[in-house]
Amino acid sequence: MKKIVWIVISGIFISNSYSQTTTNSNLVKPKVSQNFISYKYKELPVGAIKPQGWLLHQLQIMRDGTTGHLDEVHNKIKNDNGWLGGSGDGWEETPYWLDGAVPLAYILNDDSLKQKVLKYINWTLNNQRPSGYFGPVTKWERETGDKITVATSDNGEDWWPKMIMLKVIQQYYQATNDKRVIPFMSKFFNYQLQALQTTPVGKWSEWATSRGADNILVAQWLYGITKEKSLLQLCDQLQAQSFKWSDMFKSRDWVINAAAYQNDSNWMSRHGVNVAMGLKDPIVEYQRTGNKEYLQDFKTGFHDLMTLHGMPYGMFSADEDLHGNDPTQGTELCAITEAMFSLEQVIGMTGDNKYADALERMTFNALPTQTTDDYNNKQYFQVANQVQISRGVFNFSLPFDREMNNVLGMRSGYTCCLANMHQGWTKFTSHLWYNTPDKGLVAMLYSPNEVTAVVGKDASKITVREITSYPFEDSIRLEISADKNVAFPLSLRIPAWCEEATVIFNGSSIKTGKGGSMVTLDRTWKNGDKLTLVLPMNVTTSNWGRNSRAIERGPLVYALKLDEKWEKGHQEVEGDYFSVYPKTDWNYGLPDSVIAAVASETKVNIIKSVDNDFIWNLEHAPIEITTIGKKIPAWKVNADGVASQPVTDRTGIYKGTVDADAKTITLVPYGCTKVRIVAFPVVE
Ligand SMILES: [Zn+2]
Repeated sequence: MKKIVWIVISGIFISNSYSQTTTNSNLVKPKVSQNFISYKYKELPVGAIKPQGWLLHQLQIMRDGTTGHLDEVHNKIKNDNGWLGGSGDGWEETPYWLDGAVPLAYILNDDSLKQKVLKYINWTLNNQRPSGYFGPVTKWERETGDKITVATSDNGEDWWPKMIMLKVIQQYYQATNDKRVIPFMSKFFNYQLQALQTTPVGKWSEWATSRGADNILVAQWLYGITKEKSLLQLCDQLQAQSFKWSDMFKSRDWVINAAAYQNDSNWMSRHGVNVAMGLKDPIVEYQRTGNKEYLQDFKTGFHDLMTLHGMPYGMFSADEDLHGNDPTQGTELCAITEAMFSLEQVIGMTGDNKYADALERMTFNALPTQTTDDYNNKQYFQVANQVQISRGVFNFSLPFDREMNNVLGMRSGYTCCLANMHQGWTKFTSHLWYNTPDKGLVAMLYSPNEVTAVVGKDASKITVREITSYPFEDSIRLEISADKNVAFPLSLRIPAWCEEATVIFNGSSIKTGKGGSMVTLDRTWKNGDKLTLVLPMNVTTSNWGRNSRAIERGPLVYALKLDEKWEKGHQEVEGDYFSVYPKTDWNYGLPDSVIAAVASETKVNIIKSVDNDFIWNLEHAPIEITTIGKKIPAWKVNADGVASQPVTDRTGIYKGTVDADAKTITLVPYGCTKVRIVAFPVVE
């Protein structure tokens, strides 16, 4: 939590190394004054989309695990919690937890979880100061008995945890329409607009300045409801005092420097979770100004990020900082859930379905591997080619004092992820569908669910049941339930990996759609109408760091299946944890003949159905891909348990000794693995 050196003089960022100076001229955009635009696609209220099948089971596991019980097992939440008026922790971890637990309670309609989270919401709403300030009682308030006002705002506390609590309360409102929420938020934002004059966003922490876009996001959501002009003034102010991610994305130096230098120069702007959250910055700026240059900034930023730091599992390296694309680098769990949330906002604002492909890729690959079956343990950092999960000194950009950053534990690594991992699956569920301005519905992300939405010019309520075991299945069946016939457009996203999709309506094929497009059916729908979307999935390869190749099919990336040996350990400070070791050989390269003709050189085996008790683990992996591999005898773990990627020449082929015999190898979905190879070296 040290301060960064970030001095802006005449538009030039001066960093502490002359070789990393970032020129920043011509970056200030002409602002189209307050040309507020509405969403391209609008979020549905929390609870309108009910998970089914495997997704429902995933959320039930979370309810029965730490999402439903974090307040009983995590001291920062358990002991004299600041967000309940106590003198214990009042910073980020309680709001982090609620950011996932509140939507989970309302999505599952679980009364006991609702009662639990309502305590924190009620305390927060009921203890807003007359000035509009909210949150835990500050040290100054305890000492003086006074309450924070605009005049005494410098005795307040960090803006940052309040930004998360605003997201929590926004979701609570979407789920309940509680009448207390809008006045509460209006009053706080009014306080904030005045207080920022003397206590700027960065007054207490640079977490706040690097994450100001989340504050803006909620203020602009409120503007969409109240049309109170001062909210836009507030957002201008917040933006002026926060990191300019748009400008960084546009300049490109931030991401290039992060790939070249793993030092602490401007480290807050290369910190993976900050970057994941910053992705939404150009989008909120676009919403407020209507200036399309911001959209281009986002595209440039995301493209550069994935090119320089991208990993096969759909995320960028973030261990904790951006750290290049070597398959032995890692990603923090918080970075995944925050990148997912940012993309959910990007999709809503832009309607660009390319980012739905990116979101599904991180959700179905990166997210599930990093927690245990019971959702009680997590890795702080996962690694792409993770041939063992163990304590050790890895090439991570974070202190490794206790060597606990890679193991699976409840309290291992930093506990931010233990608190922040709950928003991943829950908000993914809330964003499977969006409403369109022409009173229609968009199926943007796919998974088993049932959505109830208001559509058509007479605002009719309909329900669509989505029956599928996607991402493991290529068919998605939709069944419409409606009290009366209703005309509205229904759009279906065709992922870019799919060459051509087919839409079947009540048994007849009626439309096809190319990958990357949207298929829209604008018609009068009747109760009982059935629609099937078929998205054929081909086996393909993709190129990653150090000339490695991954095998994928549809939205899933496949990794070498290794039998696992789990060992329980205990560390004095960070508690119980698990290490996982492979019981079978992992040192395989893929022959270039497989890469050249991957469709014919691989076999896809559907080995079991995806039942309602599905868990993302080896036992339940429903699909296997078999192909051939050749062992590289010299490829071994180093002293720290890391499998350094074999070297290649520019043709991408490993030229060292390789076993002559090719062996059949089995790949399973990456998200079902704990130890694996996913970025394969290529051999002759
Ligand atoms: Zn974290």
